[in-house]
Amino acid sequence: MDAVHPSLLKRKIIHVDMDAFYAAVEMRDNPELHGKPVVIGGSPQSRAVVCTSNYEARKFGIRSAMSCAHAFRLCPQTVFLPPDFAKYTQVSRQIREIFARYTSIIEPLSLDEAFLDVTANQQDLYASQIGKMIQSDVSRELLLTCSVGVAPNKLVAKIASDFRKPAGLTVVPPEKVASFMRELPVRKIFGVGPATEKRLNHAGIKTCDDVLRFPFVQLEAQLGSFAHWIHMAAQGLDDRSVTVHRERRSLGREETFSQDLILVPRLLQELESLAELVGRDLQRKQLRGRTLTLKVKYHDFSQITRSRTLSRASDDSAEFIAAAKLLLLEKTEAGRKKIRLLGLSVSNLETKSGTEHQLVSEWSDDEALLTPL
Ligand SMILES: [Mg+2]
Repeated sequence: MDAVHPSLLKRKIIHVDMDAFYAAVEMRDNPELHGKPVVIGGSPQSRAVVCTSNYEARKFGIRSAMSCAHAFRLCPQTVFLPPDFAKYTQVSRQIREIFARYTSIIEPLSLDEAFLDVTANQQDLYASQIGKMIQSDVSRELLLTCSVGVAPNKLVAKIASDFRKPAGLTVVPPEKVASFMRELPVRKIFGVGPATEKRLNHAGIKTCDDVLRFPFVQLEAQLGSFAHWIHMAAQGLDDRSVTVHRERRSLGREETFSQDLILVPRLLQELESLAELVGRDLQRKQLRGRTLTLKVKYHDFSQITRSRTLSRASDDSAEFIAAAKLLLLEKTEAGRKKIRLLGLSVSNLETKSGTEHQLVSEWSDDEALLTPL
């Protein structure tokens, strides 16, 4: 057998991924939904997209990010529900309380996913035991299921948690990493999206093993510095540490319109109400921000962001409105191209006393205005 790479002996990482999280919470709280296809998103008559579908709905080909109208065509019996982020945030907190019994090094990726570093856990348990205990705590206390991957690093742990869904536990010890990766499609590598996948496939690279057999110089010619990451990742090597997020980096609001907007006065009006909401959110949280970012999604789903930094941190909606208007009028195609969504966020945050504020997660998740992705 090949020697185990020393970096695989440094850490024990767990990736926990809740199974069909939003849908599972709704099914738990409403037994009438059992056995029925369920989509969390919005009405199929609206322009909402699918945030989560349960496993019954997935049998009909319904997937996240698909329009609810499309989901309805695939399966008209589907129950469509609006998302209840306040509830999911609350459950997510309960899940994190369970994680905290085993380690303090927790990196949440979203409401339903997190990395845990359990290398030096308080109770001196095997990482796989901790994985099992988390699954049983979650199922006993919250009546939900999660899938768990246990591995020497984040890359492999995340792939492992997806290996046997739902309610799966996949443990990849250091000596199994190389063989676990070998047959996997390159798409499984973190950072390889559809475009890179296509380029790699075009070069005859379909699996991680193909990556390793391909001359590295040619790989580098194709992908630049990204080739290094892919080459390491194909061997299951990844040195990223689990980082505990402490600061909220931005706070924002966005709105998808019920119809694409083209008229500038109407867009300015929408922008004003977004700026007012953002200002109010900041005031409520005792924060000020310096950098304002406007996000525009056009009717064809292409998206741009444009930023402007104010001379000093502010929580004043009027200042945000003025800056946002300039951005919209000068830096976007407003008035020439139909717009589907506007978003406004403020970053470079500080508390009123002037120090960095400590909060988790990016966009505000406590109000229904948010468009989930
Ligand atoms: Mg999930």
